[in-house]
Amino acid sequence: MFTDSHCHLDFREFDDIRDDLMFQCQQLGIKRFIVPGITRKRWSRVLGLAQRYQGITPCLGLHPWWIEKATEQDLWLLQELAVEHNIAAIGEIGIDGAVEHLEKQQEYFAAQLAIAKQLNLPVIVHHRKSHHLIMPHLQRTGLEKAGIVHAFSGNYQQAKAYIDLGFKLGIGGTITYDRAAKTRDAVSKIPLQHIVLETDAPAMPLQGFQGLDNSPKYLPKVFEQLLSLRSESAEVIAEQIEANVNQFLGD
Ligand SMILES: [Zn+2]
Repeated sequence: MFTDSHCHLDFREFDDIRDDLMFQCQQLGIKRFIVPGITRKRWSRVLGLAQRYQGITPCLGLHPWWIEKATEQDLWLLQELAVEHNIAAIGEIGIDGAVEHLEKQQEYFAAQLAIAKQLNLPVIVHHRKSHHLIMPHLQRTGLEKAGIVHAFSGNYQQAKAYIDLGFKLGIGGTITYDRAAKTRDAVSKIPLQHIVLETDAPAMPLQGFQGLDNSPKYLPKVFEQLLSLRSESAEVIAEQIEANVNQFLGD
């Protein structure tokens, strides 16, 4: 059994194919999906999906790419809905050094970390060119349940810094690219207890699928790539990764 620990099944790209896709995933043994919310407008869609399909865990957050329009009311609502729906994690939140509004991104990242802290929840963190900006926030907040650094890319030192705070690293399409030597090296060395698999579908297509929508059904390809980087057996890796997801979900 596999879990896609990060996929945006609520996106329109899946509207016409979702039923089929969920069936195909079942056949492939991909049975659980963690679907992060990215804006207030989309939270209800994410929550709705979880009611319609088995195996979907919804999370709620304000994603840095859409932070410009976020308001303080969104933060209040986030806290309210997280409690009301017994949400498993706050996310997707983070800081993206390659997009605008860096100051507001940091302000809202800190505010959402504070909500996670108050509710004793883990978080799902988006990073890009921002390890140096994210780390001080995580260190300052000190979340007991840490969470997942999604779509991890970076070197071993950067991986280690997150691991030392208790975070798991979301490993996805990045490791299928030859150019990702640093990340592949980091993924080969970090303890298995800190690895979860993800696709980030419909974003981040795997090598060989550039230009196409990514899909959770490609998760086994990420798993195969991970196997090639690790010394443990497929069974050991598969089992540990699912245990890591269970731990994240608090099961
Ligand atoms: Zn995402």
